[in-house]
Amino acid sequence: MKQQRQRSGGQGQLQTLTKAVTHIRLIEVNPGKLAALDALAPVYLSLCQQYVTLFCTQAQPDKFHPPVFVTPLSERWHRVAIQQATGIAQSWRTNRTQAYQDYLDDLLEYHEQQAEGTLDAQTEEPTWKEWDVPTLRQTCIQANANVVVLEPSQDSTFDYWLKISTLELRRVLLVPVKLADYHRQTVKGKTVNTSVTLNKRDTGWWLTLSYNQVVTVQTAPDAPVVGIDVGIAHFVTTSTGKHYGTFHGKLRERQKRDREKRRRKAKLRTCLERKGVKKLPSTTSRSGQRLIRHVRQEINRAVNQCFTEHEGAQIAYEQLSVATMKHKARAMNAYMRASNLAHIPEQIAWNAAKRGVQATRVKSAYSSQACQRCHYTDRANRPDQQTFCCVVCGFQTHADLNAAVNIARRAGDSALQLCKDRKAVKSLLMQRHEAWRKQHGWP
Ligand SMILES: [Zn+2]
Repeated sequence: MKQQRQRSGGQGQLQTLTKAVTHIRLIEVNPGKLAALDALAPVYLSLCQQYVTLFCTQAQPDKFHPPVFVTPLSERWHRVAIQQATGIAQSWRTNRTQAYQDYLDDLLEYHEQQAEGTLDAQTEEPTWKEWDVPTLRQTCIQANANVVVLEPSQDSTFDYWLKISTLELRRVLLVPVKLADYHRQTVKGKTVNTSVTLNKRDTGWWLTLSYNQVVTVQTAPDAPVVGIDVGIAHFVTTSTGKHYGTFHGKLRERQKRDREKRRRKAKLRTCLERKGVKKLPSTTSRSGQRLIRHVRQEINRAVNQCFTEHEGAQIAYEQLSVATMKHKARAMNAYMRASNLAHIPEQIAWNAAKRGVQATRVKSAYSSQACQRCHYTDRANRPDQQTFCCVVCGFQTHADLNAAVNIARRAGDSALQLCKDRKAVKSLLMQRHEAWRKQHGWP
């Protein structure tokens, strides 16, 4: 079951979680029953693609954009395609902007290090490669009630009827939907949303339903803020000085074994290829997939425990940028890193939403380099990965703990949250450091 969340408000406010019920197979009562849907799919997909390209390159994404392409689809289907394309283009644009900002931050960091003379000999100047417009490869139709109607079945043989408008005028396809027992348990007593998603795979057509769940925010306005730092040595370090989960130890051992296995497989492939063998063993690793799943389970467990042990608090966590993740994951193997680290903040957000806990995402820039006592911000404050030691005031603590405390404070720090980029964050922190010096008569 896939789950989504929406932004949270303050205490007593309601937040809506949209939960998805996936993997419902569309039954083909008799052969060719879904032929009308098969015929519609490529026409829909190519229209949707045209709008995706338009919204990514020439026009702003807009679900009310007037129709501009010619299609045999009905006006209603046309509108659905525009809406779906709007969503795709919007997230593409957001991700691209974020990645571009990360690139600029990377570039700034590179030049900073160059000026300081602390640049690694192997580090290359970051470059920007323009993104391609997304290509819709898989058939996915996000339909609403204007084109696909979900109706509870009166007959006990099926749970719902799906009424799908087709390419032919006034011809409606009627498809019975039968839920598995566990799906039936999940949606029992809930109102299923009228929007549905249809996916076509090699194995046939699949339906995704969704329903909303309302959670009340429980956190008191004056609840203490717990900051969470995300990392490798510890998945999660809190400003209260606790650690949860780690990539080291067993997970790293498993990862090493998996990498060795893939290396041996690659060698075998080259060897067989040279001997002219046509059918080669696959390069994808099933144990690799299992490892990724295992890491996610460990992350979920760690985050869950962290929330359980900090009941009544509100949470502040980092908005991880690609640059920060790269920095944090330097020691990790490429295919393990970014996706897994990114899973941690997602899991924090999901846990907060589910439990009705107030959680704030804060900027991560310099959270690991800034001194929590005097605000002095410098790479030199980090003699090694584990240690924070301020070169001005001498404050010393575990590096992750210092970051977690900084993150906790940023939750209520609107001046810092308003900073446009890394440069602005650094100059604000250094201003505060100067103020601290004056206040304490520091030489
Ligand atoms: Zn200091």
